[in-house]
Amino acid sequence: MNYIERIRESGLVGCGGAGFPTYVKAGSKVEIVIANGAECEPLLHKDLELMIKEPEAVVSGLLQLQVSTGAKKAIIGVKQKYEEKLSGLKNAVKNTNIEIHWLGDFYPTGDEYVLVYETTGRLIPPQGIPLDVGIVVNNVETLRNAFYASELKPVTHKYISVVGAVKNPSTFFVPVGSSFADAIQLAGGATVPEYAIFVSGIMMGTLTFDTSLPITKTCAGLVVLPVDHRLVKRKVRNEQSMNRIGKSACDQCSYCTEFCPRYLLGYDVQPHKVMRSLGFTATGEAIWNQYAQLCCACGLCTLYACPEDLYPKEACDRAKADLKAKGIKWQGKREVKVHPLGTGRRVPLKKLMSKLGITQYDVPAHFSDKKLSPSSIRLPLSQHIGVPATPIVRIGDRVTLGQKVADVPQDKLGAPIHSSINGIVTKINEEIEIKAS
Ligand code: SF4
Ligand code: SF4
Repeated sequence: MNYIERIRESGLVGCGGAGFPTYVKAGSKVEIVIANGAECEPLLHKDLELMIKEPEAVVSGLLQLQVSTGAKKAIIGVKQKYEEKLSGLKNAVKNTNIEIHWLGDFYPTGDEYVLVYETTGRLIPPQGIPLDVGIVVNNVETLRNAFYASELKPVTHKYISVVGAVKNPSTFFVPVGSSFADAIQLAGGATVPEYAIFVSGIMMGTLTFDTSLPITKTCAGLVVLPVDHRLVKRKVRNEQSMNRIGKSACDQCSYCTEFCPRYLLGYDVQPHKVMRSLGFTATGEAIWNQYAQLCCACGLCTLYACPEDLYPKEACDRAKADLKAKGIKWQGKREVKVHPLGTGRRVPLKKLMSKLGITQYDVPAHFSDKKLSPSSIRLPLSQHIGVPATPIVRIGDRVTLGQKVADVPQDKLGAPIHSSINGIVTKINEEIEIKAS
């Protein structure tokens, strides 16, 4: 099996985002490979802890990717504020051609468009991907896993931070498919009787109250917050109510646009104009919705910039969905020119956390080697971009840790799934459930 086949067989997908299968990126030809260690979601520290714990694996994964893509240059983007903590990473890159690029502590440093510009000065074309400017970006955990995949070790475990209103905020390495409840228990349990969970972050993650849900290959962590926290209350508001408030209260101050990281980078994203669509008929909507096409859903406009506590990000989400449903493609300007005030308007993470009302939870989430041994796991068949995996086991089958339990045809985009425990298959639907034994 060659390197690309090993990556595919391991079930590796991007650990820092939507779960794009890594073998596709590893098979491309580029000039520069970038390891994304920026980790800008407030409170989450799993990438930092991983780089402290396993710097050699990250560096080996990046060097292998450099070889497979033919890249001349390899860069690791990490925050300057962690320089002291990352002495192991600095040692690991000695005698390699890898450059560590120290980033500022602002949000969203981890956005690919921002990261590519910060580390290389290149601007990805509107609606493009890093490949369009000769670059491949991978999260540092993905690179760590790629290194193990090259040694035929499949993806069975996940680094996650369990933070917020929990007794011992920490980072753990847990079996994929473990429940949120088990992970929260590992962190000592919640400190409040009623809580909600932001999955993979407050800014770009999803909110749930369901602690039985499983940890997937793309989960960066769980942020536990009291149910009466302002962020929870804001997030649970229904779309109709968001639109009604937006329509009546938006005074077109345009702060949402003036702080938008994509707008500041030179892309034609203007959420204040998208807000106008709330008061229009279908004809007017189509015009204003265009200004949402290049939005990366970072959430800064809704959670930081808007003085009226409105929902411009959600208006952009809806506008993008509408345009997609109608098959309307981006027709705005192709030229990208960085805004002259772009650097000055960056939002420091501390300031963002203060606005979010989560400063009290801003504590380190050091790696804990506490083991999680779940009594059962649930493995969703779709934890990645592409077609869902098809089960290759049956109810009653005995499986072992690392055994492939679902696969994707070779000619289709997707990723196989492996068991993260020894056990017996007890249920198969859109998930495979395995009871430990
Ligand atoms: S910041 Fe808020 S009030 Fe101002 S234009 Fe944007 S959505 Fe409207
Ligand atoms: S969510 Fe708001 S701030 Fe972020 S890219 Fe979209 S429009 Fe800009």
